[in-house]
Amino acid sequence: MSSTSRFLCAPLRGVVVPLGEVPDPAFAQGALGPGVAIDPLGETLHAPCDGEVIQCARTAHALTLRDDHGHEWLLHIGIDTVDLGGEGFELLVATGERVAVGDPLCRFDVDGLARRAKALVTPIVMTNAPDLSLETLVTPGMIVDKGEALLQWQAPGPAAEAVGRSASSEASARGEATIAAAQGLHARPASRLRTLAHNHAVELRLARAEEAGEGRSDVDGASVASLSALLNLGLVQGDRVRVTARGAAAQAAVDAAITLLETPEHESGRADVSAEPTAAPAEASMPGTLNGLSASPGLAVGPLVRYRVALPSVADTANDPERERRALDAAVAEVDADLERSRRAAEARGQQAEADIFEAHRAWLDDPDLRAAAESKIVEGASAGRAWHLALETEIQRLRGSGNTLLAGRADDLHDLQRRVMQRFATQEAVATTGLEGAILAAREMTPSQFVEVAEQIAGLCLAGGGSTSHVSILARARGLPCLVAMGDALLEASGDRVCLDADQGRLELAPDERRLAAVEAEQARQRQRAEADLAAASEPVTMRDGRRLHVAANIAAGGEAQGALDAGADGIGLMRSEFLFLARQTAPDLAEQQAEYRAAVEAMAGRPVVVRLLDIGADKQLPYLALPATPNPALGERGARLWQSHPEMFDTQLDALLEAGRGLPVCEDGLTRLRLMVPMIADVGELRWVRRRLATRAAALGIERLPSLGAMVEVPTAALCAGSLAREAEFLSIGTNDLTQYALAMDREVASLAARSDVLHPGVLRLIALCLKGADGRCPVAVCGTAAGDPLAGALLAAMGVDELSVEPARVAAVKAMLRGLDAETLAAQLPALLALDDAAAVREALATVLATSAQAATPPSGDTTVADTTTRS
Ligand code: PEP
Ligand code: MG
Repeated sequence: MSSTSRFLCAPLRGVVVPLGEVPDPAFAQGALGPGVAIDPLGETLHAPCDGEVIQCARTAHALTLRDDHGHEWLLHIGIDTVDLGGEGFELLVATGERVAVGDPLCRFDVDGLARRAKALVTPIVMTNAPDLSLETLVTPGMIVDKGEALLQWQAPGPAAEAVGRSASSEASARGEATIAAAQGLHARPASRLRTLAHNHAVELRLARAEEAGEGRSDVDGASVASLSALLNLGLVQGDRVRVTARGAAAQAAVDAAITLLETPEHESGRADVSAEPTAAPAEASMPGTLNGLSASPGLAVGPLVRYRVALPSVADTANDPERERRALDAAVAEVDADLERSRRAAEARGQQAEADIFEAHRAWLDDPDLRAAAESKIVEGASAGRAWHLALETEIQRLRGSGNTLLAGRADDLHDLQRRVMQRFATQEAVATTGLEGAILAAREMTPSQFVEVAEQIAGLCLAGGGSTSHVSILARARGLPCLVAMGDALLEASGDRVCLDADQGRLELAPDERRLAAVEAEQARQRQRAEADLAAASEPVTMRDGRRLHVAANIAAGGEAQGALDAGADGIGLMRSEFLFLARQTAPDLAEQQAEYRAAVEAMAGRPVVVRLLDIGADKQLPYLALPATPNPALGERGARLWQSHPEMFDTQLDALLEAGRGLPVCEDGLTRLRLMVPMIADVGELRWVRRRLATRAAALGIERLPSLGAMVEVPTAALCAGSLAREAEFLSIGTNDLTQYALAMDREVASLAARSDVLHPGVLRLIALCLKGADGRCPVAVCGTAAGDPLAGALLAAMGVDELSVEPARVAAVKAMLRGLDAETLAAQLPALLALDDAAAVREALATVLATSAQAATPPSGDTTVADTTTRS
């Protein structure tokens, strides 16, 4: 590519000073770009080139010009002159004005500034080409005259120049809009404006109409490129704003921006999840209480604490600013790529609101003001990680202290970005979040790994979103930690030094009085006593009052949890969710690692059966290293065993690991192998046959003769309907009520607003289960491993319907066993036709609770959970 020389003239008369000698590290170390400085001998700053004024500081001490080649020049009169609040400066131009070289831009009071400013030296830097090499044409220390050639550089050839020209010579447009969004201009509409500007290839700015004023429409305001600047405008519903755009599609961009700003968010089809409730609570809350769905029963009292993810440790200082700057660029680019992946995955799952949040985070990441703040910290000697921490911390504190709940809420988003970028520079993993001992933790949502990090400390968990079958709920139940979900965003504004979480009743009481606290304490003591009694008998097998035996197994996520399950009294592992070994890491576990996990589970269970579910990836369980095809309904897309075709190597490695882990083990009493394999998302027997053939091929390759027993999960309604053919081929079936309920009711288990209605006790779901049992007809055992198995009401009903095993979270094993021992399953079975004929799930719950309470009263002594009319646990 050919190149030509370009020049910049001196904007005022004065002594030439190298940038490195400017008494401000941000300029001196080049953080703001290459350039030179002039110690003024005149009192007017002139245009050093033809171009357009694209920014004027509110305090008039600095302005930016874009020249006709697209280069942007910051002209900054004096050092720390922002502190003068505009005193001593008179701007002679406005943003958006075109100027010719030599035009006066700003007059300043040299003598006044000399007395009050730190320095008068005036840097002239090119801000949008940090790597361009500029040559100073006047020897430092010599006087340059206004208009004399000052800087020279080599410009790229004509093609590249055209880009610069189009940015500056295109039309500009402006218009006005009234903010329609009830929540004002918050991060997500702001990020949509940024996308809009990007798509139209324009520079887009917003200003308060009253401040812009007639004839000064472009003055100040904020570029949509900077989310923090936009939010700082503090625009609320009803405010008038001036919108200006510059670029070839300026008018179209302004029109689109006005439409966006004037459309209430629900009409634009993208409601703000950060402002609207994530779920309609199960029923209206009483004053001072918030309702939710019980994801894990129990009672807890403690301070309500908002969850914040711990920050990793990073180095404080570094001595090579240029290297730190590059490292920060690279880290930001990596996080940006991660966010984009998450955005696409959310979009593929059809979760647009979640995708919008990731997009808003990307916009923050790209915010030039935040980046400039971080870079100036680097110039002052901070490491890249610390600089990012400090830059965002200032903004976080400002948002938290704003007194505006909406802005304060955005502080959490920034905190998340702070952590993500710092993670790239972590000298050690995030110090575990501390200080949560005994707290009732409140969060919008949590990932399983975030939960595990704090689970030992907290007394209870409340989530604004989530559902009772989401994975954090499963983990909370596994630990016996009281947990409510789908509480709505009111939770995030709630506070209390001593709140009461009554997860049995689905209530968070924000200000319980002394009497209530005393009653809670007595109930906790009673529950503890019962739990101890249940645990004492937990290792014994279960015989129900009608004499029938039933297995109670445990659901685990890793081999290391098996010992706890055995100690809790589990008769085996009914579901090891193997995909948990694959989540929250950058690559899939290899054969040896997997084999060790599966073997650990088998060894801990000392001869009892262990059912490992083959990888169940897709829908709500995504792997960062596995890009699944985008699809509008991921829960109905390629997931579970259906992914085998596209990712055979991952499944084959898992089969090999399982075959090796089970090699040479004796069979159990029931004639099945100790280590058993279960296939998720089976729709018909053909899929199971395919897996068996694959298993046989892998076993032959490894020289293993006895194949592990193979079962199918019944999660797809067709599997329940075709249970007869499945039971002829499978050695066992296990009903996954979480997915079966979701697919039968067409209610996404991840949608918090549907959580209250997504109930396994719906008569239609129960009929599917009844058909499954009838179809299996005793040809093979049928278990239930979904959340319903541990629900006191549903578990009892499933036992009465004739299932052979309930597999529940380890912490529920003892209570479920106690409940079953007190259950007269035969009598309850007689009620089944009446229950299945009821109208809806609520009617079934109510009738079932009455039947069980009556039957428990008749029994002596009463035992188990059946006296608790739990009306909230689902699926
Ligand atoms: C189920 O769907 O009921 C089940 C046990 O599997 P998961 O919850 O892991 O999808
Ligand atoms: Mg499932």
